[in-house]
Amino acid sequence: MRSFLMAMVLSSMVSPVWAEERPAQQQAVLAIYKELLELDTTHSTGSTTVAAKVIAKRLHAAGYPAKDIALLGAKPKLGNLVARLHGQGTQRPLLLLAHLDVVEAKASDWTVDPFKWLEKDGYFYGRGASDDKAMAAIFVEIMLRLKQSGTKLDRDVILALTADEEGGSDDGAQWLLKNHRELVDAEVVLNEGGGGRARHGKYMFNAVQASEKSYTNFVLEVKNKGGHSSLPTNDNAIYRLANALGRLERFAFPVELSDVTRTYFERAAQTETGQTAVDMAALAKNPNDAKAAERLSQTPAYNAQMKTTCVATRLEAGHADNALPQMARANINCRVLPGHSMDEVRQTLTGVVADAQISVMETEPASVGPNSPLQPAVMALTEQLTRAMWPGVPVIPIMSSGASDSRYFRSAGIAAYGISGIFGDMDDVRAHGRDERMGVKQFFDGQEFLWRFVTAFAGSPTSASKP
Ligand SMILES: [Zn+2]
Repeated sequence: MRSFLMAMVLSSMVSPVWAEERPAQQQAVLAIYKELLELDTTHSTGSTTVAAKVIAKRLHAAGYPAKDIALLGAKPKLGNLVARLHGQGTQRPLLLLAHLDVVEAKASDWTVDPFKWLEKDGYFYGRGASDDKAMAAIFVEIMLRLKQSGTKLDRDVILALTADEEGGSDDGAQWLLKNHRELVDAEVVLNEGGGGRARHGKYMFNAVQASEKSYTNFVLEVKNKGGHSSLPTNDNAIYRLANALGRLERFAFPVELSDVTRTYFERAAQTETGQTAVDMAALAKNPNDAKAAERLSQTPAYNAQMKTTCVATRLEAGHADNALPQMARANINCRVLPGHSMDEVRQTLTGVVADAQISVMETEPASVGPNSPLQPAVMALTEQLTRAMWPGVPVIPIMSSGASDSRYFRSAGIAAYGISGIFGDMDDVRAHGRDERMGVKQFFDGQEFLWRFVTAFAGSPTSASKP
């Protein structure tokens, strides 16, 4: 006890002392985390291949045979790593998925060096500290520990560390699924996108991300022969477009709840108070409760959970101050609920615009994935572990409005979940931004949570009693 207290006191002055007193598995995961954070895996100057190689080396040193480690990719700097721990094969594999690439980080924008390991004031700093090198490091440490313990699990555990999640040339998870499905085929995928949500230090809920909206853009465009602005005509491209946008403003896609969002409202009702709590519970019971839906839709976050949304984001028209416009164009950004095709959305928009002279074109063909079903085994295990580690904190399934690589697996018929047990502040999300960081305690708690999850789900007989 004394040495623990001493370490606590010292930690505020000299962090390495505290670091040395950490249990072996924490020191092990930190070494991996640090190594990954200090490697540049940005698209401009970095390489995920380098990161994949250092992890391959660690796996090999821990006893993984070369045949169970694959380094592969479509491009030299966009390497992926896939490694497999063989189980008894009585159940289908569990895949641990994390991306190695990170968003660009301009050192001059940051108050600390984005590619230099730093532990300060209870946080780990660096590009990728939260997105997504924490999970990558934790998954690697779990793979090493499983191998070293020699435990024979019921199912294979596969690790996939991928390229190009932030990029957009689809040479990561999507490429693996398309070209090496046998390597990454699984019953369940654990990925980013979920995790604990805190507000002002209070743990609000542990999220299971089981659904994602898809993102696309449509362009509304109207052309006109134009003319001299001293001789206005009844037919004006800007007025036509403006009227169509007015109709779009007054339009709302119908309320539609999936298993995921219905359960979200049902459980979120228990964390809310007043009218919001009442409305959430009412809507979960009856998705046709128009009054509850109307009140909830006043809050953008709840509105986005209930409906596909399409909103005007850019406008362009005309070519001279003294000429009738020959063209008017608006960009409409849409976030589409799973289960709806982009063609369906285009048809709806065409109907809302209700003007044959206005073309409606999708500018960015988007991939649409279904929800992951809320598998009882996955939900029950998450709930059991959350109760044990953070009593009183509910588990809430969510649909995120952003996209992750989970959508490729869902489209391929593989259930993917954002589950991490890593808590972060909902009002201080720094992923993709400056001074990205991860709470020290939250990181180690996430490691513990994921270790328990993986060993229990993959069927280790001793997992349940592990501290
Ligand atoms: Zn990410």
